[in-house]
Amino acid sequence: MSDTQSAPRASAGGATGISAAAALAASVVRDDVLALSAYAVPSAAGFLKLDAMENPYSLPDALREAVAQAVAGAALNRYPDPRAPELQARLRSVMQIPAESALMLGNGSDEIIAVVSQALARPGACVLGIEPSFVMYRMSAHAAQVRHVGVALRPDFSLDTEAVLAAIATHRPAVVWISYPNNPTGNLFPDADIEAILAAAPGLVVLDEAYNIFAGRSWLSRLPEFPNMMVMRTLSKVGLAGIRLGYAAAHPDWIREFDKLRPPYNVNVLTQAAAQTLLDHASVFDEQAQRICETRRDLMTRLAAMPGVEVFPSNANFVLARFADGPGLMKALLDRHILVKNLHAFHPLLVNCLRFTVGTPAENALLVSAVADAL
Ligand SMILES: *Cc1c(COP(=O)(O)O)cnc(C)c1O
Repeated sequence: MSDTQSAPRASAGGATGISAAAALAASVVRDDVLALSAYAVPSAAGFLKLDAMENPYSLPDALREAVAQAVAGAALNRYPDPRAPELQARLRSVMQIPAESALMLGNGSDEIIAVVSQALARPGACVLGIEPSFVMYRMSAHAAQVRHVGVALRPDFSLDTEAVLAAIATHRPAVVWISYPNNPTGNLFPDADIEAILAAAPGLVVLDEAYNIFAGRSWLSRLPEFPNMMVMRTLSKVGLAGIRLGYAAAHPDWIREFDKLRPPYNVNVLTQAAAQTLLDHASVFDEQAQRICETRRDLMTRLAAMPGVEVFPSNANFVLARFADGPGLMKALLDRHILVKNLHAFHPLLVNCLRFTVGTPAENALLVSAVADAL
């Protein structure tokens, strides 16, 4: 009885419609956080899910078995090894990470973005991002209370390198984020442009290669050339979004600093055990990626054949397309239980654009016929 009497009175603000907890939170939570809305993940139950760039293929049974065994042997009662040396060694050999570079693992690359943003958030510092691009660069800057300077792409989504170089000269950003290929536009930027950015940037330049397996191009082997470059990747788009494993490679002098802010046990024992086994069978993912790239071509051709549809080139496992009425089509697809990403309100350059994850041939066929039907 005394428990309930001494507990916070949940209904204290009932008369005003504001709970006691909300009033308390409003008095201590940062104003900029109170003004935020949470990252929205729509419920996908019963939907064909083509909104989050997940790999549509499951693992071969034998590999699932091997993962089950590896996971069964994990010491759940122990904290994970904070350096994950075996997993790091696997990643180094499978991904051919230069010997002179150091590696940091994250609970997804989202966590690495957050750690880098915090580490570079000196008073008055800013970060620079291309727009439109991956939202976490901006969100993490916001969380770290560091100013985010956005530089728009050209209307054809090519990099406006002069504008980027001018913004670098004006704002002196602590980090320049480059999604390579860019999410959500799907394109790669020319080497010469990125070299110019690397030469001009006063701080770190991060090449976010989340879609590397579909792109066939990488900056990883050139890490030793550039003391201010970090290459970041993730296993999420490869086909392992559920295990949450991202990694970043850079000169050890960068990684040493970032490691100080990384939560020491961020990559759990199940993920470490599963990833080690999965990386021993990396060819499975290469083959799936190959299939996805082939079906991507087919999906793009079929969408582009529809009247009034503009399909943009893609080096990733998604396709961006513009329609006469993007939001209307989004709604029509939802009515048909297909979930895609509506980018119409995301950035002025993306008016009427939707983004489709490349699915299996059967899923793509469902999507294409739903789009044709809706149009
Ligand atoms: C999906 C995505 C990520 C997210 O990676 P996680 O490892 O799942 O956190 C990072 N960068 C880009 C550009 C992405 O599209």
